[in-house]
Amino acid sequence: MPRPSTALIDLDALRHNYRLARQRHGGRALAVLKADAYGHGAARCAQALADIADGFAVAVVEEALALRAAGIVQPILVLEGAFDPQDLRQVREHALWTVVHHEEQLRMVELQAGAPLNVWLKLDSGMGRLGLPPEQARSLRQRLQASGRVGQLTWMSHFARADEPQQPTTAAQTERFDAALAGLPEPRSLCNSAGILHHPGSHRDWARPGLMLYGIAPTDGDKLGLKPVMTLRSQVFAIRELAAGQPLGYGALHVAPRASRIGLVALGYADGVPRNAPQGTPLRVGEGLAPLVGRISMDMLMVDLTDRPEAGIGSPVELWGPDHDIRPLASACGTIPYELLCGVKRVPVRWS
Ligand code: PLP
Repeated sequence: MPRPSTALIDLDALRHNYRLARQRHGGRALAVLKADAYGHGAARCAQALADIADGFAVAVVEEALALRAAGIVQPILVLEGAFDPQDLRQVREHALWTVVHHEEQLRMVELQAGAPLNVWLKLDSGMGRLGLPPEQARSLRQRLQASGRVGQLTWMSHFARADEPQQPTTAAQTERFDAALAGLPEPRSLCNSAGILHHPGSHRDWARPGLMLYGIAPTDGDKLGLKPVMTLRSQVFAIRELAAGQPLGYGALHVAPRASRIGLVALGYADGVPRNAPQGTPLRVGEGLAPLVGRISMDMLMVDLTDRPEAGIGSPVELWGPDHDIRPLASACGTIPYELLCGVKRVPVRWS
């Protein structure tokens, strides 16, 4: 029998989530497929969305070229923009859209010959990371128009704290962005998933949903009609009986407090399960839950099945998916669902 560990990708759920994002936003939406679609397989996800998506967004030119090679003809925005003139040539050759977020990139666009580009000018409305000063919006626009190198111009910015709906910073960023662009006719884009779901006052022409496409809500609590796309699943492949007092696994992190039945599961940190997942974290085994025990190793982890006599070899285990929310596991490991999804490796991926 092959190792029973798989990442199952439900492409119907992906389509459902994209439609939901677009409908909640009320405008056009670029499906964010960077980092191999947050670990879901960018080419397969793009193909599954091709007939309903307004376009796609990736981080870097290489990711965009891989989508073009997979037959994707829709618009693809490169969120980090071109790193050098060669990158920019690829942008032009493959009819990509590119973000310009600093002066160097602007100069590259101004200087390069060829057909005009579709440029998304990124303003720093308050995140303090990428983006040009909003106060310069008008002069930047003039420069680009004078260069004759820009076809369609779109304005964008990115939120720092949209996933904290009570924070006033998202409204403040929106206000700063709009104030800088007052009276300018070009389309605008502000919202990631949390912006779409929690900040209706910030919706503009284009949205850029990532996490919600994969069925994960940006905040705890309400799932908002999203359907998880990835199921990371495996099985119990061996059972160990421990006597009371017997240590278990590396570092003897767990010592059986009573006679115990331990299930070994074929997923470890080499598959993307964080090694620091705390003991006691509930995992889904069959129809119920069982606590993680001992230290996660490279190829396997262990669950205590003492109170689950019906569970045994072959019992299905779901690390995350429709029946087991990824958010609590991510917070128990001191991380976010994004990092868990992007971190899945080695396990075969199956799309359906
Ligand atoms: N827009 C930009 C510029 C991003 O960097 C990202 C991802 O980090 C997104 C949109 C999508 O964000 P989310 O996955 O939170 O929806």
